[in-house]
Amino acid sequence: MTNVKRIQARSALGHIQPYSPGKPIWEVQKELGLTDVIKLASNENPLGPSPRAIAAIAASLHNLHRYPDAQSTELRQALAVKLDLAQEQIIVTNGGDELITLVSEAFLEPGDEVVVPDPSFTEYQFGALLMGAVAKGVPLGSDFQYNWRSIAEAVTERTKIVYLCSPNNPTGTYLSKSDLQQLLDALPAHVLVVLDAAYSHYATEADYTNGLEFVRAGYPVLVLQTFSKIYGLAGIRVGYGAADSSILQSILQVKEPFNVNAVAQTAAIAALGDDEHVRNSRELVLQERQRLYYELDNIGVVYVESMSNFILVELGDDARSLYEQMMRQGVIVRHGAGWGLPRHVRITVGTAEENDRLLAVLKDVVVAPPIR
Ligand SMILES: *Cc1c(COP(=O)(O)O)cnc(C)c1O
Repeated sequence: MTNVKRIQARSALGHIQPYSPGKPIWEVQKELGLTDVIKLASNENPLGPSPRAIAAIAASLHNLHRYPDAQSTELRQALAVKLDLAQEQIIVTNGGDELITLVSEAFLEPGDEVVVPDPSFTEYQFGALLMGAVAKGVPLGSDFQYNWRSIAEAVTERTKIVYLCSPNNPTGTYLSKSDLQQLLDALPAHVLVVLDAAYSHYATEADYTNGLEFVRAGYPVLVLQTFSKIYGLAGIRVGYGAADSSILQSILQVKEPFNVNAVAQTAAIAALGDDEHVRNSRELVLQERQRLYYELDNIGVVYVESMSNFILVELGDDARSLYEQMMRQGVIVRHGAGWGLPRHVRITVGTAEENDRLLAVLKDVVVAPPIR
């Protein structure tokens, strides 16, 4: 008799649901026997990586036998210049996701609370549960708009972190600068605000803030950013946080020394300097977002206006079946069940060609009666 069955995981793990990512293209091809599949499910950049990043990666490969820079010094320098911050105000991580885990490890004790918007990015809750803390969801208001007062009201003396996602994934709605100001002024001094600005580059409203001005002004705000979205580098995992150095000091204590690989550091520096790629990527989304609104109106489906590169679309009681039918026609979107939105799908804005295909398939499944 062996003892493998007696090995016990921490009890906190019993409360954690596995993250369910957007279905990859290869999996849909394999499962459904399709060849021509498009993915509009993970808010990736449809234009691909920055060409400058690809060139920088190629030029750096001969150095792969070396460990990466443990502090991502060059990338932090480039970010500091770009963002008008000190290098000590920046931490580079293995994607924004790692930053959420590190923040959780650095600040949460069992029984602590974090306040999260609902629906929002599920990794905030994951980080809390991992540490035995409690995630308190605050429902967004009508049309999924933020209400800073209800967030402030959810805070207790056990609250360590308030997460804000702006633009919010999966709704595309945002917290205005004046609302953030009022919320920060209302919060007790022991609360760290994590402002997840993963989609900031796609925001167009004048009263949007990516939070950096509040970091510069000395508020207890940590801004999360990623190279996975507009910079098109999701596959090599790099993100960063910006906050006061005293906040980052605690996070650095729990960081693995070589958390960001050398290729990712090199690529991120190049992508950060590729203004043309960022501009083209942004313009594509803004233009196609408008066109999708127009065409969705024509099809007669309801959606939430988005400050991001995705649109939350309400498809009603048959949403799951419609999502599956779209997949069978080779178009992968994301069903909303994971966010408690079983009547919705989230659709990433693709290239004009991809969006044409999406619209044709959507029209087909919405107009045709669902197969049960
Ligand atoms: C994509 C995303 C991130 C970061 O993703 P990484 O790929 O881990 O950098 C963070 N927050 C939100 C809301 C996101 O959608």
